[in-house]
Amino acid sequence: MALLSVADALALVLAQALPLPTEQVPLADAVGRVLTADLAALRTQPPADVSAMDGYAVRGEDVAAATVLRVIGEVAAGRLFDRAIGPGEAARIFTGAVMPTGTDTVVIQEVTSRDGDSVAIKRAEGKGRNVRRLGFDFKAGDVLLEKGRRLSVRDIALAGAMNHAMVPVHRRPRVAVLATGDELVEPGTPPAPGQIVHSNGIALAAIARGEGADAADFGIVPDRLDATIAAVRRARDAQVDVLVTSGGASVGDYDFVQQAFAAEGIALSFWKVALRPGRPLMHGKLDGMQVLGVPGNPVSAYVCSVLFLAPLLRRLAGRTDVSLPRESAVLGCALAANDERADYMRATLECRSDGTKIATPFRAQDSSLLASLAHAQCLVVREPFAPAAEQGSPCVILNLQF
Ligand code: AMP
Ligand code: MG
Repeated sequence: MALLSVADALALVLAQALPLPTEQVPLADAVGRVLTADLAALRTQPPADVSAMDGYAVRGEDVAAATVLRVIGEVAAGRLFDRAIGPGEAARIFTGAVMPTGTDTVVIQEVTSRDGDSVAIKRAEGKGRNVRRLGFDFKAGDVLLEKGRRLSVRDIALAGAMNHAMVPVHRRPRVAVLATGDELVEPGTPPAPGQIVHSNGIALAAIARGEGADAADFGIVPDRLDATIAAVRRARDAQVDVLVTSGGASVGDYDFVQQAFAAEGIALSFWKVALRPGRPLMHGKLDGMQVLGVPGNPVSAYVCSVLFLAPLLRRLAGRTDVSLPRESAVLGCALAANDERADYMRATLECRSDGTKIATPFRAQDSSLLASLAHAQCLVVREPFAPAAEQGSPCVILNLQF
């Protein structure tokens, strides 16, 4: 199989991913989820003419000039005034209260002075002032949130005001993260000689959760074919939408992931991508389960997950903005010509006061270096065969949001 470009590989992954089915969820669980149906208001807001201020509800014609009115009662939010207001009368009113019958104007309390049951209106007020009319915000039946919209905090507040307690959204993707490697121990375990700490599971599950998935850590499997097959089967039995494996993806004597996928009948759409870090990257699908086999080196595992897992999860969750945004910057140092693999280089990012962004790749780009990954602020993207670039020349960066 030829070395695929990153864009072609991503297209293959996305071509096999359909948004997941609908489920009804409480609003509190709906932020970041994508609506699967138009949402119409179940009520009119405000449901009646209401006061926008604290003051006095009056008849507009009574306050065309400064005057004195008789206060016949009081109305606060959530209560109704049981009488009509006649000529020369007023009701004390508070913000959000329904306007009493006969009134159409609110005089704010700051321009009044009260004396017993009379109130002096000290200056003329325009008819209709300080009143929020029925349906000023929205009316029952108005479609305010459309199918395909990714719900923000503001959107769920609106949906609540529309009187929806539950909303229809795409189900969250279920993800299993599986590590392979005889040398791995869980974080917090004292490693024996030759062992290292398994850090990929933490990162990959966190990326998945950041994309709204339910991610389960399937732990570490030893470098044996039978154990790897058994772990892949566990993921199938758990009916996950995506299985991400890390490590064992190459063709070394202890790399069993590809064989395990084959043994389980998973057809690979690719197993090599023109990418650094991360050439031995596999993708395949079996029934409803997509599999991504990312390399074990922590930086490769991270970059491959940012480039492929995050967009895949966005697509499954119904999002259309699946690709991570790229930005323009200028290089803080010269770079040599690139080879046939796209390069995603860890770099610092400095924002100058004139808005220019300076991206400076670290000298060491080895895919095992987690400390430089943690301290990087962006990845400088170099296309295959990019020519040598001078310091100060334009470049494309991926901001690291995970
Ligand atoms: P592999 O892809 O299995 O050949 O692993 C490549 C390198 O990544 C080796 O040095 C492994 O020890 C390391 N590695 C593999 N899996 C992990 C992991 N889960 N966490 C940290 N390092 C890993
Ligand atoms: Mg390994």
